[in-house]
Amino acid sequence: MIESAQLLTVESQLATLGLEVMAQNVATCAERAAQSNASYVAFLADLLEPELRSRQDRWVQSRLKLAGFPFRKTLADFDFAFQPAVDERLVRELATLAFVERHENVILLGPPGVGKTHLAVALGMEAIQHRVTAYFVTAHALVHDLRQATRRGTLEQRLRVYTKPNLLIVDELTYAPFDATDATHSFRLVSERYERGSIILTANRSYGEWGALFNDPVLATAILDRLLHHSVTINIKGGQSYRLKDKTRAGILGTTEVEPA
Ligand code: ADP
Ligand code: MG
Repeated sequence: MIESAQLLTVESQLATLGLEVMAQNVATCAERAAQSNASYVAFLADLLEPELRSRQDRWVQSRLKLAGFPFRKTLADFDFAFQPAVDERLVRELATLAFVERHENVILLGPPGVGKTHLAVALGMEAIQHRVTAYFVTAHALVHDLRQATRRGTLEQRLRVYTKPNLLIVDELTYAPFDATDATHSFRLVSERYERGSIILTANRSYGEWGALFNDPVLATAILDRLLHHSVTINIKGGQSYRLKDKTRAGILGTTEVEPA
């Protein structure tokens, strides 16, 4: 039997150090080690492992909350067979997060419902599992936020929210109405992240249409230049909407490409 007074002291010392899981487990681990004649190192490994696992879980859970995903879906939930326009091998390669290490961007293009947001969120969730910080925002919310921050004189602070994470996901670019200020903010953001952090961007317009979107072809070119310099584009052109797949199957809709909503 382990010295109980000493054990109580050790438990409370571990708790003081913030090693809660070790404090909870130390009695059992010590008992187990004594019974199996385990080495000191094996005992320590047995004690440390659950503490580290629990910390990793807590980190992931709190980062998932902070990331602001609209839903939680993973690559395992993505039916690649349904969407042959998506190169599964490329997506699996992206899921290694090497692109974030290289500060590259990923652009997902395609009509509504083809899984752009799903893939962006899944890569973001994968990033967090790899201890890479990720933040999700729609293009609309982003420009709205930066416009408001400008009025309040807090632009620099708010910009940091979008420049700090290792991976920034900007969803639904083309639904946002952009004026000159929005375009300038977008340029600043893309410039500040350029070669320093990754962006996953989803859009339902091809690059040729971006000049009109930003109301300024020169600025649009400057943004695209930086965005695309180190990037991978996944073009889900002609993809079927997953949202409408049952209706399509039932013959309610044709099987042709679905127009942007
Ligand atoms: P988009 O952003 O391209 O408009 P979403 O990613 O929001 O489309 O997808 C619409 C819905 O369909 C979501 O619930 C998403 O999880 C689901 N979905 C889309 N494509 C697939 C797929 N290939 N496999 C599984 N679910 C899918
Ligand atoms: Mg979407």
